[in-house]
Amino acid sequence: MFLRSSGYPRIALVYPSTYQASITNLFTHTAYYYLVEHSDALVDRFTLDNPVRGALTGRKLKDFDLLLASANYELDIVYLVKLLSEAGITPSAEGRSMKPLIVIGGLAAMSNPEPFLEVADGVFVGDGEILLQRVVRSVSLLPDKPVDFLDSIGDGIYTGSSITRKVYVEDLNSSIHPTMEIRSRTSEPVYGEGYYLELSRGCRWLCKFCLEGFSMYPYRFRGLTTVKKLIEEGLKYVPKKRVVIYSLSPFDHPDIRNLLASLSSDGVDFSLPSIRWDTLRVEDLDLIANSTQRTLTLAPETASPAISCSIGKCFDPGRFSELAISALERGFDLKLYLMVGLPNEKDEDLLAGLNMVKVLSSHASKLGRRISVSLNPLVPKPHTPLQDHPMIEEREYLRKAKLFEKELGKGVVSYLSWFHAHLQALIALGDRKIGKLAIYLGISGVSKHKLIEFAGKLGVDLKFPMNRRSKDVRPWQKVVFPLDHIIDKQPVS
Ligand code: SF4
Repeated sequence: MFLRSSGYPRIALVYPSTYQASITNLFTHTAYYYLVEHSDALVDRFTLDNPVRGALTGRKLKDFDLLLASANYELDIVYLVKLLSEAGITPSAEGRSMKPLIVIGGLAAMSNPEPFLEVADGVFVGDGEILLQRVVRSVSLLPDKPVDFLDSIGDGIYTGSSITRKVYVEDLNSSIHPTMEIRSRTSEPVYGEGYYLELSRGCRWLCKFCLEGFSMYPYRFRGLTTVKKLIEEGLKYVPKKRVVIYSLSPFDHPDIRNLLASLSSDGVDFSLPSIRWDTLRVEDLDLIANSTQRTLTLAPETASPAISCSIGKCFDPGRFSELAISALERGFDLKLYLMVGLPNEKDEDLLAGLNMVKVLSSHASKLGRRISVSLNPLVPKPHTPLQDHPMIEEREYLRKAKLFEKELGKGVVSYLSWFHAHLQALIALGDRKIGKLAIYLGISGVSKHKLIEFAGKLGVDLKFPMNRRSKDVRPWQKVVFPLDHIIDKQPVS
């Protein structure tokens, strides 16, 4: 643990979720160790579990000069407001007058910064490592010159005044990656103990609904030599010889099979929390079976070949069944992600998904394995080809979700509440008024009743995500991502 005494600029890393979620996020580790090692700042960490006092110094959040907050999910803006209020800090940027200064980064904030600017003084549109380097360079301007500090961050910082282009690290091999990672005696990261490694960033498949694919573009990966060095060093600081591999689609990495084979032969356990199913060969299942991982999470999204191809994620029922049955035979449970509310979706498309799950479930029960299904509505996201697509109405979503539940049983299917998805869509697609709405909700608590009440006061039309929207009404167009110029040219159906 690195602590500094007073008299230095103070930087708070703020993660608006649980402490456990914060240490599951690699940026928490990267930011903490980088800032401590490369700046004179006093650095501490705050989460919803400790909003008032820092996890390390016990100092109050309101005594910090700069808050670097992460918002990877849309609702993080609401939770951030809650956290700030509990810490005695004015959540509204206007009312706070840069005391303290708040800069937000992360996927949700950078893909549509407008709502977030109601809370933040600046949103960083780009990879966090670049922000960290700029913060180190300019931190001596704090606490006295917050405006100069923001200006000095340079390209990538969005303050609402001018168009901002995303900045990104071109080569992950030469970029920062922590070897030492924060651990706690009371809380393990979500995917269990081990060294957390980012193998790649972005995803080359660019499915038409996928925020990660489009916003994290271009696809980059760490080479095998870099990865092996990181693992060798990183495993020295964790109690288990286990590596959790972060990658949206790890089997796209040219050396993933070599890497997994060499981890196994070195007696190192591993986990792959997400896998694009059609990159996986049946023989890869044997490689994964060498680890202690016993659940594979696969996201076909839909079992309709036509609809799947129209969203850029073509589904081949024969290949999928072969892979799924092979996985069950090797002792894996399966967690499947399916979506409803896709363009041109009909009930027969849902029935195709239902029948597929029924057939697989019957195989699973004969083999003593389990299949679970997570059902989600399509939430249109900025900077994706489906950004203007109407979100499914509540009644229709519930009808479809209940059909799954009736046919497969509650123990098999879980589904995201439509209300939660609607909030995501409002923030993902919204403007400054939605930011004000988020502030109200963060202070008063999230409920349908409060949402309707505050939307009425602010004149927000809560139905806008369910309508087809015009490309002239995209608040996120003030930030430019590398693929924005081709998105409107991609036919969706
Ligand atoms: S494969 Fe997965 S992560 Fe990659 S673009 Fe498609 S949905 Fe996104």
